[in-house]
Amino acid sequence: MVDSHREQLAALTDEIVACRMCTRLVDWREKVGSEKRASYRDWDYWAKPVPSFGDPDASLVLLGLAPAAHGGNRTGRVFTGDPSASFLTAAMHRAGLANQPTSEHREDGLALTGVYVCAAVRCVPPGDKPTPEEQRACLPYLVRELRILPNLKVILALGHIAFRAALQTLSEMGPEKVRGKFLHGEVYRFGPSLPMMVASYHPSPRNTNTGVLSMDALVKVIKQAKELSLS
Ligand code: SF4
Repeated sequence: MVDSHREQLAALTDEIVACRMCTRLVDWREKVGSEKRASYRDWDYWAKPVPSFGDPDASLVLLGLAPAAHGGNRTGRVFTGDPSASFLTAAMHRAGLANQPTSEHREDGLALTGVYVCAAVRCVPPGDKPTPEEQRACLPYLVRELRILPNLKVILALGHIAFRAALQTLSEMGPEKVRGKFLHGEVYRFGPSLPMMVASYHPSPRNTNTGVLSMDALVKVIKQAKELSLS
């Protein structure tokens, strides 16, 4: 028998994948998917809202901003098939959350345990920058998804914009607006009715190639969030 929260997540995922609410993002995701990058010309791009991925029983959520044009928007799985995905998955593997260090495509065998990975905006935005209206439009999906996860205790926000989205989401979920200032490695507690948050720099090449975020630092913050989620 399928657990009801698994059924709810699957139904929500179907709803998200069919969403065409943000006209600009619908146009962009489909344009990227039809024009393609030359090195992926043989790919049938996903070009739809990108579903979350991971363990429905997880106590830890990793929250990114939005899918990458030739990563999630191509492969149809969040943090899959681009440099940020490679870095993050290697770190999750070292932290004991992933069965393999790579995330290349939907049938690559990757399995996550104890962690569920989401994006605050489900469609690829031009220039990786969703508008505030687009972020607001997509936020209810995240609120609903987090409410379904029965064991959620910690959200690890990857990057400043995901951090703000997580604060907005928890403000929707809780009795009052929650606030926090982004600081890598900081833990934020909002009372017994809401998950804790931990902040991390985003594992983008801009950060990982410039020394802002090393592999050791990312593994450390993921392990910190994992331990909090299991305590
Ligand atoms: S960004 Fe979110 S709300 Fe907007 S079209 Fe995509 S799935 Fe729908």
